[in-house]
Amino acid sequence: MSTDTSSHHGGSVRFIYDVGPRIRIQCLHKATRPLTPVRGVEFFQGTLDSTDEIESARVFDTTLRDGEQSPGTSFSYDDKREIAAVLDEMGTHVIEAGFPVNSEAEFEAVRDIASSTSTTTCGLARVVDDDIEAALDSGVEMVHTFVSTSDVQIEDSMHATREDVVQRAVDSVERITEAGATCMFSPMDATRTDEAFLIDVIEAVSEAGTDWINIPDTCGVATPNRFRVMIEKVCAHTDARVDVHTHDDFGLATANALSGIEAGADQAQVSVNSIGERAGNAAYEEFVMAVESVYQCDTGIDTTRIMELSEIVEEKSSIETPGNKPVVGDNAFSHESGIHAAGVIENSDTFEPGVMTPEMVGATRRLVMGKHTGTHSVRERLEERGYVPTDDEVRTVTRRVKDYGAEKRRITVEDLERFAKEAGVERQREEVQI
Ligand code: MN
Repeated sequence: MSTDTSSHHGGSVRFIYDVGPRIRIQCLHKATRPLTPVRGVEFFQGTLDSTDEIESARVFDTTLRDGEQSPGTSFSYDDKREIAAVLDEMGTHVIEAGFPVNSEAEFEAVRDIASSTSTTTCGLARVVDDDIEAALDSGVEMVHTFVSTSDVQIEDSMHATREDVVQRAVDSVERITEAGATCMFSPMDATRTDEAFLIDVIEAVSEAGTDWINIPDTCGVATPNRFRVMIEKVCAHTDARVDVHTHDDFGLATANALSGIEAGADQAQVSVNSIGERAGNAAYEEFVMAVESVYQCDTGIDTTRIMELSEIVEEKSSIETPGNKPVVGDNAFSHESGIHAAGVIENSDTFEPGVMTPEMVGATRRLVMGKHTGTHSVRERLEERGYVPTDDEVRTVTRRVKDYGAEKRRITVEDLERFAKEAGVERQREEVQI
């Protein structure tokens, strides 16, 4: 009888489900392994055998700034401290803590995060003196200053001219760099900006000494290929490091962020659970795991705390995480259909990505029984757990499972055991414990 706890590819497995009479694995301790596990790429054949598109990718988290701009979300001082602490401990490269000029409370929260975290903290500022002074006074290492560059925003949001925009951008970059802070400049609404003007702005702020240029797809209209071309062009016109900020209006935020990295950007702005303005930003968890698992590129981030981080942000933001959300949704590592569940019991790589396991993100794999479960499957599940049910008992338990599933309730192993006990099913033998 095997009590092997290794999967076919060397990663540890942690089922909450009993995986059959041969093996019973129950809540193993966290396996000792490198900070960012990389599973062998030789696992793949075909489309995924190339992994040299990117060399590195840095993560700029804007959960506390753009994320907080989600309609209905307001983080308290303590919420911000707690989220920032986890982001910091995980190794996030930059934390955008807020907009210091906004209010005294915001200023204090940003100042507190800047002094209590070891990573780079960033504060947002318009190209306005008061904003920039507030950001500098808050003690952040990086000031992120932004101005609209699209004609629609220059005219109908700022009520200014292109000339004003360039002048204020240059003045702001100069003030920030003179003060000794790292400067990030954003031409807001870059993806709807006249290209020649955008390049003029980029060249002007580069000459003024900005350290970073962030290209925001403020209204979410980019596509992966168009964004790639755009970022390549931006990189060709500046010596500053390039960062991208993408929005999910068409569900393309993470794809666009990755496209930006492929095109030469060093860093992407993301938010946990993809919260943010309108449909939100590129998701922290999607971006990090795609870089780690699909691109096989080490971010240095402790991915095993992703679920914990996601749950904290879910609670504090009051934005419920949908079950089908990539990486962090309840269904992300759940299996119900017979073929999938059977495959996963044998080897989780059959119907999961293989390069991303629940253990890597601190989640748990679940095998779910539901409305469509049949007597065959129920008998199998019961026998796997050492029960010897009669035909009548199998029918009784199956009826309970179906009723439960029809009420849109999730049936856990514990539920199944309870149904079996209530139906008086006999158990044949003791389980093998590890
Ligand atoms: Mn935004």
